Formats: sequence, C-alpha cells, structure tokens
Amino acid sequence: MVILLIGPPGAGKGTQVDRLSQHYCLNKVGTGDILRQEVVKRSELGVKVEGYMKKGKLVPDDIIVDVVTRRMDWGSNCRGYLLDGFPRTKKQAQMLDHLLKERGKKIDLVFNIEVSEPELIRRISGRRVCPKCFRLYHIDYNKPRVDELCDYCRTPLIQREDDREEVVRKRLTLYREETKPLLQYYRRQSKLVDINGNGRAEEVFRQISAYIDSHLSYNSHSNKAELK
Ligand code: ADP
Ligand code: ADP
Ligand code: ZN
Repeated sequence: MVILLIGPPGAGKGTQVDRLSQHYCLNKVGTGDILRQEVVKRSELGVKVEGYMKKGKLVPDDIIVDVVTRRMDWGSNCRGYLLDGFPRTKKQAQMLDHLLKERGKKIDLVFNIEVSEPELIRRISGRRVCPKCFRLYHIDYNKPRVDELCDYCRTPLIQREDDREEVVRKRLTLYREETKPLLQYYRRQSKLVDINGNGRAEEVFRQISAYIDSHLSYNSHSNKAELK
C-alpha cells in the first residue's frame, strides 16, 4: 500500500503521517525529516542540502529521489509506505512512478490537505520542534507539558530556521508553482482525495482514516492493498 500526503508547508502532513503510520502500520518516508536528520549529523548529504533548506528552496530532484529510493529499499515489515513531502515536482512524481513500477508497486491514494492561508501562517509561526528526537509541537495547539521542553527527551525546543516569515513566503510560493500542479496529475488518475485540513488534528485524522477504511481493502496474504 502506498499513500501520499500533499499539502502546503504547515498543513499538518507530518502530524497526520505520525498518526496514520502507527494506526495502519505503514513506513513513513518524510523527506523533510530525513534531510533535517542528515543536516544535524553533518553527513555528506546533510552538508549538500543545508543551504537549499535554510533558504526555503527545493533540494534538486536527483538528490531527493536517491534519498527516497534508498529509504524504500531498506525494506519494510509494515504494510507499505506513507510519503510526506514527496513528490514536490512533476519530475519527482514521474521518477516515483518509475521507481515503484520497478518494484511491482503503485500509488493507491493521494490525500490533498487543504488549509486556509491565515491558518497555515498560524501553524508555521507557532511550530516548535525537538532538535534531538524531532517531535513536533505548537505554542498554542500542541504545547509541551513543561514550557519549551520536549515531553520525551527534555531537550529545549527550537523554531526551524526555515519557519521564519521571509523564508515561509518563499516556500508557499514554491508550493503553488511547483507542487500544486501535481494535484491535477493525480486527479486525472482518480487517486486524489481532497481533505479539509482546517479542523483539529483529530478531526483531520478521522476524515483520512474513514476514507482509507471505506476505499481500500488489504489482503494480508499477498501483502497488497486494493481499491474496493
Ligand atoms: P514542510 O512540511 O513545512 O512543507 P518539509 O519538512 O517537508 O517542509 O521540507 C523542508 C525542506 O526540505 C523544504 O523546504 C526543502 O528545502 C526540503 N525538501 C523536503 N522534501 C523535498 C522534496 N521532495 N523536494 C525538494 N526539496 C525537499
Ligand atoms: P507540515 O508537515 O504539513 O509542514 P506539521 O504537521 O509540521 O505540518 O504541522 C505544522 C504545525 O501545526 C505544527 O506545530 C503542528 O503541531 C501544528 N498542527 C498540525 N496539525 C494541526 C491541526 N489540525 N490543528 C492545529 N495545529 C496543527
Ligand atoms: Zn525530544
């Protein structure tokens, strides 16, 4: 089973992917998270991508596709994959189709998480992350138990450098120009499902999971998901 989540920065993709991956036993592949971990490790890849990320630019397609391919080839003891933040360009979408086909897989569903611009800005400007375990918080919507400290590892929370206002505007523009056209690509293939992402995280999860439950059946014998 392969499910994609598409939405502008701050739409709540990471939040939903955390819940859905646990609920359905799906391997999450979040390109933003993977790259941030590489930056912290100061790996060769991390050093290469850091500049793009800080400026809110897209990392080149070849690098991203390589990252996703390697992550998917690690194998999985789960039922499939949940992709967050990838693909983001037409080229990436085509490369994804190709890499899945080579592995006998295909995309089953694509959720388009729609959130109004003022709400996106509220979510991004209040977003805080743990720099050690990468858990997500929000200063109003999802507060840590103790002020500004991660609930799990007690590390002081930080604001992502690319969540500053001028960088956010650039990321929103790039979303509109590069990623939004993908919606049409998947809509034509009848794979796109529009989700109203303005509600609380629980409500958005309820919408997505209700759709999955009513439209996909999972055959544990063949390890395949099929549209009902
Ligand atoms: P958000 O969830 O807020 O949209 P992400 O965490 O997904 O942001 O991505 C952060 C940054 O990582 C992006 O601004 C970009 O620099 C880089 N990045 C992540 N995924 C991709 C991708 N598929 N293609 C190109 N760049 C990417
Ligand atoms: P994305 O991965 O799409 O960039 P995130 O999942 O990181 O989005 O969410 C952005 C911020 O908004 C985070 O601080 C998160 O805690 C918060 N958030 C996510 N979903 C909701 C929601 N439905 N309502 C309110 N806040 C949310
Ligand atoms: Zn932590």
